[in-house]
Amino acid sequence: MKKILFVTSEAHPLIKTGGLADISGSLPKALAELGQDARIIMPNYQAIKTTEEVRYLSTIYVYNCAVNILETRLPGTNVIVWLVDFPEFFNFPGNPYVDEHGKSWANNAERFTLFCRVTVEVAMNRSYLDWKPDIVHCNDWQSGLVPALLSLEYSRPATVFTIHNMAYQGIFPSSTYRSLNLPGQLWNSNGIEFHDMLSFLKGGLIYSDRITTVSPTYAKEIQTADFGYGLEGLLSHRKDFLSGIINGIDVDHWNPETDINISQPFNRMTLYKKALNKTALQEKLSLPVNKNIPVFGLISRLVEQKGIDLILKCLPEMLTHPLQFVLLGSGNKSFEQRLYNFAEGHPDKISITIGYDEALAHLIEAGSDIFLMPSRFEPCGLNQIYSQRYGTVPVVRKTGGLADTVVDTVPKTLEDNTATGLVFNEASPGALMEAIKRALILYSHPKTWKRLQTNGMRKDFSWTKSAQQYMTLYSHL
Ligand code: ADP
Repeated sequence: MKKILFVTSEAHPLIKTGGLADISGSLPKALAELGQDARIIMPNYQAIKTTEEVRYLSTIYVYNCAVNILETRLPGTNVIVWLVDFPEFFNFPGNPYVDEHGKSWANNAERFTLFCRVTVEVAMNRSYLDWKPDIVHCNDWQSGLVPALLSLEYSRPATVFTIHNMAYQGIFPSSTYRSLNLPGQLWNSNGIEFHDMLSFLKGGLIYSDRITTVSPTYAKEIQTADFGYGLEGLLSHRKDFLSGIINGIDVDHWNPETDINISQPFNRMTLYKKALNKTALQEKLSLPVNKNIPVFGLISRLVEQKGIDLILKCLPEMLTHPLQFVLLGSGNKSFEQRLYNFAEGHPDKISITIGYDEALAHLIEAGSDIFLMPSRFEPCGLNQIYSQRYGTVPVVRKTGGLADTVVDTVPKTLEDNTATGLVFNEASPGALMEAIKRALILYSHPKTWKRLQTNGMRKDFSWTKSAQQYMTLYSHL
């Protein structure tokens, strides 16, 4: 049995802004089920919601800050969660990283440096918790200083750093570095300095014993200039220590047979009941109720990465076909406005919901026929996996985890029953539209369509396989 400290800035269902929370809420649980002692450490945000007891454990002093460590459980599991409690940095309403206008909090460097320093104290068993991990598993830039600071410790645990998205790097001016009082030895071009700036992400990439990312294809892509954000050289230099492990999903939470957020449970054998969810979705969103019209769904952060601009360019042509389009998302204000404007003129075909709505996300997965995910890059992606479980055929661009989890429909894959969706190459409106038209043609052949649906529903996306791969990785350290 290994002792694993899982370091993250969000974990479902305590707090979630994106896929990292899903993984942090599932992987430690899966590791625990495989007999490992996995514990989570994360900041104690005001927005954290839990029904579990939260108790005080200890207070430690880090650079003149008195920080409390609180303990709770990941709701519905036995997984211990340690909350780093420093009200001045974490006890305010809203999103963990950005204000209501999407602008980063001004003191993010200070906040996450403190989080990393406290994590190091816990990892070195200097926090009165009487527990020392074998492995410290860090995630994304917010924990990037942990491997860097641990590299200066004698008799430290092994470190793993997982990249969930290279686009977010935690880059700050060198003056911030100086004001943080970080050790001078880390400040060089083979350290956390990146073009005279402080890079949290680089701390994780340089100093961790192993780097992973969330799909094999993304692991290759980030070694190239198109995806590496200037760190491709470093990543290809460390390629022997870099691997891709595809994310699993929480198959209990995303299960069409037991989902309490949908109108009518269904499975592979009762796929006809999926239509009732389509009706419920159309009613809820005030679209004309029609079982035969194909419904396209999209749930996403509305950012450049997700190819929302491609969707906007395709919408006029999409509207010339008999279909409905349902979108749930929030993010970039200009995308939000343009989508709204477009929907206003076509209330019988388009429904745009701006906001974050977990229950509606489940109903969209259950009630749509086709799911659109034209991402420019996608480290792993979850919604294309949820879609396959809910018999909703994904249309995806061939990148990152989308390429690794969706099998394109061609004669061969139809014949051997591996086809689960539509995959297109180029990040252009034309290529997306082509794939949408292919989907419409396939949809008009009910027998073939059902095969695509059931092929997807049969696939095993549980965490067990991925957790086992992480355990193999840990065992080499
Ligand atoms: P990313 O982490 O890049 O945002 P992923 O596909 O890996 O993308 O994960 C996104 C997660 O967030 C999924 O669980 C998705 O359902 C959820 N999500 C994104 N936007 C919304 C929204 N507006 N309402 C509800 N859930 C959302």
